[in-house]
Amino acid sequence: MKREMIFLGPPACGKGTQTSKLAEYFNLPHVDTGSLLRAEISAGTENGKVAKQFIDKGQLVPVELVAKIIKDRLSQKDCENGYILDGFPRSAEQADMLTKINEEIDGDKETSFKAVYFDLDQEILISRIVNRRSCPKCGEIYNIKFHPPKTEGICDKCGAELTQRKDDNEETAKARFETYFKETAPLVDYYKNKNVLRTIDANGSIDEVWERLLKVVND
Ligand code: AMP
Repeated sequence: MKREMIFLGPPACGKGTQTSKLAEYFNLPHVDTGSLLRAEISAGTENGKVAKQFIDKGQLVPVELVAKIIKDRLSQKDCENGYILDGFPRSAEQADMLTKINEEIDGDKETSFKAVYFDLDQEILISRIVNRRSCPKCGEIYNIKFHPPKTEGICDKCGAELTQRKDDNEETAKARFETYFKETAPLVDYYKNKNVLRTIDANGSIDEVWERLLKVVND
């Protein structure tokens, strides 16, 4: 059965780290809209130029642009057994679009759909954001206080130099939280009403959250 999973939670709730692990665990592609958009920006595409204006302000990129990128990505062959979708949908409009995209791609294929919500205390989120560093090459995520690389500034996995995302500064982070609470948080009820929501406590260490995540995705 095709396994379709989406993940909800505020910026820096740990979704990126956990969903990358989950993608390896199930051998499914990790589809992350933030990274897809940043790749468009680095490649200097027209989509990237538009996206940059919104990302720099902590706002959502226009829905048509993101939906097109997601549809193209989910149509690829490596998604035929399922996907781990991180960062999409981020609004009720995008959630409706995802349903439509899945219907178009899946036809009468048997699928299982789950939405997992990462629930955690909000005070720690801003500090997580400003301490976050990531690898531009393999996508590994670190926290310079709580999960530092073995050698400062260097990715443990692939040896590339770590970078800080441009939107991981306090001002943009605040705007991203506002956007999250206004646009994305209502999706918790949206998926609860469809009976596909699982909630996990996302406080604690990477290993603790991982154990909780495995329980809800395997039940
Ligand atoms: P993220 O890497 O998930 O924190 O996303 C970084 C930024 O990319 C967000 O603050 C948005 O500006 C943009 N973005 C990512 N995913 C979406 C989406 N599904 N819809 C609109 N904008 C998005």
